[in-house]
Amino acid sequence: MPVEKKKKIVKTIKIDVDKCNGCRACEVICSAFHAAPQYSNNNPGRARIQVSFDPLKDRYVPVFAGEYTPAECLGRDKYIINGKEYEECEFCRASCPSRNLFKEPDSGLPLKCDMCESDPPLDEPMCVKWCVDEALTYEEREEEVEEEVKLEDLETGLEELANKYGLDRIADTLARMTSKETATKK
Ligand code: SF4
Ligand code: SF4
Repeated sequence: MPVEKKKKIVKTIKIDVDKCNGCRACEVICSAFHAAPQYSNNNPGRARIQVSFDPLKDRYVPVFAGEYTPAECLGRDKYIINGKEYEECEFCRASCPSRNLFKEPDSGLPLKCDMCESDPPLDEPMCVKWCVDEALTYEEREEEVEEEVKLEDLETGLEELANKYGLDRIADTLARMTSKETATKK
């Protein structure tokens, strides 16, 4: 069966750490946009972007919440970039057991950036709109990916074939195809 290709839009937010001034407007608007009801509160603890900042060292790092992970890293890394030393975990996007970052303050449930998915869609995410220093830039690119065959579609197709030809015949055909493919690879 030929694998179909489909277009996928990949959304990214480019972070220019050097332009970030630590104003934390991105945290405020993110939490307000995701509050229920929307804009009813603005607790930055609920934001899906967190800015770690150290004014004395002139160091500000906006980080977007990524996937939840149930395990802590065994090793940690320190970075020195242009003479500035960054803390362990400072660039990490994971919500994990070793810190309280990217967790709902009341429930402790992990938070994840959803690129401000909404209906109708926004032209750009809220944190990007509110970042007046342009430390955050929204970008979209189109990628071609192989269409995944949905399991339900596969099952429906197999069921139809089984009804038409009988399960034994399908099993025989599959066995023949498998042995042919194995022989070709040898
Ligand atoms: S709004 Fe922009 S400049 Fe302000 S903290 Fe967030 S990323 Fe940094
Ligand atoms: S893209 Fe939206 S959800 Fe993600 S951090 Fe920015 S404001 Fe929050």
